[in-house]
Amino acid sequence: MPSSYLEGSYLKLATSGVQQLTPYQPGKPVEELERELGISGSIKLASNENPLGPSSLAVDAIKNLSSVINYYPDGGGFDLSNKLADKHDVDISGITLGNGSNDILELVTRAFLTPEHSAVFSEYSFAVYPIVVQAVGAKANIAKAFPEDHATMPLGHDPEALLSQIDDSTRIIFIANPNNPTGTWLTPSVLEGLFDHIAKDIIIVLDLAYTEYMAEDIKPPIKQWLEKFPNLVVTQTFSKVYALAGLRIGYSISSAEIADVLNRVRQPFNTNMLAQAAALASLDDNEHVVKSVQMNDKGKEFLQKAFTEMGLLHLPTMGNFISINVKQDGLALYQKLLKKGVIVRPVANYAMPEYLRITIGTQEQNERFIETLKQCL
Ligand SMILES: *Cc1c(COP(=O)(O)O)cnc(C)c1O
Repeated sequence: MPSSYLEGSYLKLATSGVQQLTPYQPGKPVEELERELGISGSIKLASNENPLGPSSLAVDAIKNLSSVINYYPDGGGFDLSNKLADKHDVDISGITLGNGSNDILELVTRAFLTPEHSAVFSEYSFAVYPIVVQAVGAKANIAKAFPEDHATMPLGHDPEALLSQIDDSTRIIFIANPNNPTGTWLTPSVLEGLFDHIAKDIIIVLDLAYTEYMAEDIKPPIKQWLEKFPNLVVTQTFSKVYALAGLRIGYSISSAEIADVLNRVRQPFNTNMLAQAAALASLDDNEHVVKSVQMNDKGKEFLQKAFTEMGLLHLPTMGNFISINVKQDGLALYQKLLKKGVIVRPVANYAMPEYLRITIGTQEQNERFIETLKQCL
């Protein structure tokens, strides 16, 4: 006799890591907010998307392929991988494409972690790290971040704290640079010093989702580091400055050996045809990248000045977003802003209950946000 269904039975059947998972909370889509409140003309500064939209070359590339999507994509994504290898001056054998760079984070985790293993990352770092680590039942060793009153990098990664969390079970260390949701960063010399102290049997995942927005003199020298650190996996994405978040495409650069490992666990067609083509075309539009970064720099200056004038503590940032301490319940303020058609990101799920993270928008969006924020405070 089959036993009868009891509420919660299937959750109990899930692996213990999965049972303890809290699903990732994405930024609220504009359509959802407008449907719920019956309003229009809202703006979304919640998910670090590029407000300029994609390159027209990417849009054309997608249009040109729309009639051949009956075919499977190139599983290895040769053309895109080849172009990425050129761009970074590395061998194609080290490139792995992912369905967003999140896919790569998951591949690394599935390939290298078991319930006997641990991964190290900092407090206030990217929400996907604990999710992928827990999903495989592995342990998260969380390092203390710098304190809020730190002179230069409040809430930023503390290299010594990260090292102190490494133990015999550690197989992966995740470092986002700049970090999301804080925007904080480590300089190349500090990062390299950190890597020097990490054993070669620990995979270093250096998440560079926002690297294009960084000041030129502190951009990590990827090629040089890949030659020096065989345990390094650098991840990058087309979701941020390349403005293809909706397509889901990212990649990693590593040694050929690690790429081979990742290739064994990835789905045969993990990246789709349209995403590959749009990413490939986007790489030809450097002007769009430059324009996006310039707009971001200007917007950053405008917002930081406004926050300072309002007496709001804002974290230093090298990304396309700024996190601010609103000195009240961030979730409540977020709700107030929502009612006025402005979507930002509460970060209580990152253990930052008094903070909001604001994506830097167009000048018009930034002005509207500041005006609305002043009304709500
Ligand atoms: C946005 C972001 C990513 C990108 O994720 P995709 O899956 O490529 O869209 C990766 N890492 C961090 C830290 C991010 O903030």
